[in-house]
Amino acid sequence: MKNPKSPNSPVLRGRMFFTFLALLSFLAFTGFYKIQNSPDTADSRKLHYYNVSDFAKVPKIDLHFHYNTPDTKYLLFADSLNFRLISPNVDTEIPIDKQLSICRKIKQQYPAKFAFFGTFSVDGFGSPEFEAATIDRIDLCMKSGACGIKIWKNMGMSLLDREGHYVMVDNPGFGKVFEYMEKQKIQLIAHLGEPKNCWLPLDQMTAANDKRYYANHPQYHMYLHPEAPSYEDQINARNNLLTGHPSLAYIGAHLASEEWNIDELAKSFDRFPNLRADMAARISHLLYQSSKDREKVRNFLIKYQDRILYGTDFSVNEKDTSYKDVSEGMKRTWLNQWIYLATDSIMAFREMPDTQLKGLQLPREVIDKIYCRNAEDFFKSWLIKL
Ligand SMILES: [Zn+2]
Repeated sequence: MKNPKSPNSPVLRGRMFFTFLALLSFLAFTGFYKIQNSPDTADSRKLHYYNVSDFAKVPKIDLHFHYNTPDTKYLLFADSLNFRLISPNVDTEIPIDKQLSICRKIKQQYPAKFAFFGTFSVDGFGSPEFEAATIDRIDLCMKSGACGIKIWKNMGMSLLDREGHYVMVDNPGFGKVFEYMEKQKIQLIAHLGEPKNCWLPLDQMTAANDKRYYANHPQYHMYLHPEAPSYEDQINARNNLLTGHPSLAYIGAHLASEEWNIDELAKSFDRFPNLRADMAARISHLLYQSSKDREKVRNFLIKYQDRILYGTDFSVNEKDTSYKDVSEGMKRTWLNQWIYLATDSIMAFREMPDTQLKGLQLPREVIDKIYCRNAEDFFKSWLIKL
């Protein structure tokens, strides 16, 4: 797992994980579909709930959409469905300066439809100038129009110090960086760790897509790599960061890596008032839990309606050749997830053909918050520029 030749380099495993992330996202998106509309369309219900036909009318934000091409046709397609996009830059194989340049230009062109998180490289971690250089980089991102900064799971899963130890997000070597972000009120989105399934044996994994992926890619299956930090190590490091920086505006990407159990995520929300979470690429885990207990998942989303933000983890790239396929994939994903969250249509899983479940039919005001208002509140500084 470790690369003794370049102990400070997160690059190799970072790249592999990026590919992994993209695949997982794709599988999560395509795993379910509607088979039956809600039969009840009484007027009184219309006041409280949205239906399928409201999808394109309601203003929405996909908070976690990797926009890695200067071609704005996907943004305009999103706009046609009333989606604004927020693109997190990631410290991975596409050079971060290139990502920043693409996003800066799109933001200048479409300031009301698009926003982005900048990011920084951890390559120089441990050098005397690392923290000052990282703060300069954060300033550059913010001056370029970023609405915040993204950090990634290379902290905790691939970055090694000079002695070959894994570097977690609560490492004192990042202290000044997070202190600066907290003081300057710079929003942070953090993808730390992985789904808990990554640390479980295959036969205990809850999501079929996780199971299939780790069976085919044992090098990323942390259960087989006990020398790497545990799932609990990842969550503890995140908790230490939040404890040490109680006013840091923080979004835990991917249901804050507590996708496997909404009770755990609820405890984290209660413990850390500054924690929010996006749903990106983890709706399959909500589906799994609602197939066991729909009301519990529904009540959780209603209770924490101010803390959860909609996102998909979709990515569009320069190498994408078929606009039709990509845009249809975007629409299919967005629409299926809308049907699950906003309506009580009956859904089916491709992965579990015998399982059917009813959409959550969250109240309109909850849908409006998760899809739009929470992000608007979080990114007040971005919205001023609209
Ligand atoms: Zn992502």
